[in-house]
Amino acid sequence: CGLFGIWGHPEASELTYIAMHSLQHRGQQGAGIVSSSGDYLFGARGMGLLTEALSKEQLDSLKPFPHAIGHTRYASSGGSELSNVQPFLFKSHKGDLALAHNGNLVNAMNLRRALEDQGAIFQTTSDSEVLAHLLRRERGGGEESFEGRKKRIKKVLKQVKGAFAFMIMHQDSLTVALDDHGVRPLMLGKKDGSYCVASETCAFTAIGAEYIRDIEAGEMITITDEGIDFDHYTDTTSPHMCSMEYIYFARADSEFRRTSTYRIRKELGRSLAEEMQGIDADIVIGVPDSSLAAAHGFSEASGIKQEQGLLKNRYVGRTFITPGQEARERAVRMKLSPVRDIVEGRRVIVIDDSIVRGTTSRFIVKALKKAGAKEVHMGVSSPPLKNPCYYGIDVSTHAEIIASTKSPEEIRDEIGADSLTYLSVDKMHDVYHSFGSKGQCDACFTGNYPIDIEEAILPQEK
Ligand code: 5GP
Ligand code: SF4
Ligand code: MG
Repeated sequence: CGLFGIWGHPEASELTYIAMHSLQHRGQQGAGIVSSSGDYLFGARGMGLLTEALSKEQLDSLKPFPHAIGHTRYASSGGSELSNVQPFLFKSHKGDLALAHNGNLVNAMNLRRALEDQGAIFQTTSDSEVLAHLLRRERGGGEESFEGRKKRIKKVLKQVKGAFAFMIMHQDSLTVALDDHGVRPLMLGKKDGSYCVASETCAFTAIGAEYIRDIEAGEMITITDEGIDFDHYTDTTSPHMCSMEYIYFARADSEFRRTSTYRIRKELGRSLAEEMQGIDADIVIGVPDSSLAAAHGFSEASGIKQEQGLLKNRYVGRTFITPGQEARERAVRMKLSPVRDIVEGRRVIVIDDSIVRGTTSRFIVKALKKAGAKEVHMGVSSPPLKNPCYYGIDVSTHAEIIASTKSPEEIRDEIGADSLTYLSVDKMHDVYHSFGSKGQCDACFTGNYPIDIEEAILPQEK
């Protein structure tokens, strides 16, 4: 999911809308904005892409308010229906509360059952709603001081386990927090003197805000009219930023610790070239768009010319999340198309950033061969993806993941490539270290889950 929030700006909701547009790649199933007047919260949300989800009338109704948070939704847990679209907005005589979450809580089911047994009624099937109930339950009577509120939020954040970047909005404050493993990205920025937060720095670029810094694991930041308060909800942290954010998920112009994803992907591609030195080819092709950077790095390191041998129809949405295998195959066919006179008679290296189900590579190899490619060598700028993610990226069952049951040679055979090479786990980490990473999650590649997943595993999967 994509998060953006801004406090104390005369154009808060418009800026939020623009910022969310640049975070559209992080979620296409729904979008919403909640604004604060200082006294009350007002919300608007809808299904689909941002432009479909929110009408001009809805946006106009939020215009007068100086504080806003926005969310673009990618369903990694909970069904894709309107009730699950965030930010969630809760009204109570103790004050309004809005909540937006990126990530996945691994103990949400257990917390939810316990809350339900105590009488809570849930409106959604989303894992994120438990936080709202926990927050409400901790709220005592009377007025709440700034410190009192912080204490309450800290206490609740300590009860949830998993990957989370949270935005918690009250009428008079915006609190953002990142889990103790710092799995999902969260950035701090400033626009015309007003603080803002975003999942990725491309949102700051989109609204002309300054990128201040990355928010760290365990950090909790509260923004009010009085200013900004930096704190931690826990001191026991163990940074494990999601490797997939670099490999595939984030936008290429977004920066992490002041290094663009584009540059990181290029380095992953360079490292892959070292592992494919034995393979002779005439051209290298990246699968657009997310693998173009890796192909660029591969080309620079190997000296093999990069060509645009595959074209992407930009009007086809993300194929990966299309439900059903047949529909996914059709969508990939609609999306990617070979440039015949570029590939005809040539030995081609194709670079993709990842293989999950194998749908994309199976199609590409076939299409390139049909277009006359003499040889097709597949290079993957990440290690074999073998395990489900429980931290907010939607690769949820072993059954779907081709490398969980098949060896690279079996996968090569299945996709019909002349060779198949993955990047090694060590080389991947070398790249991240060279960019100052404080630690990476690689569980989908190695099975080493940094956050205990016992509670998150579905009974039928165990
Ligand atoms: P496959 O076609 O093998 O199932 O998936 C691999 C392709 O999907 C690659 O081109 C990669 O860029 C993309 N991909 C990998 N992981 C994800 C993901 O979590 N979400 C989406 N939307 N696409 C992904
Ligand atoms: Fe990212 Fe993979 Fe870890 Fe999930 S398991 S957080 S996709 S690195
Ligand atoms: Mg792709």
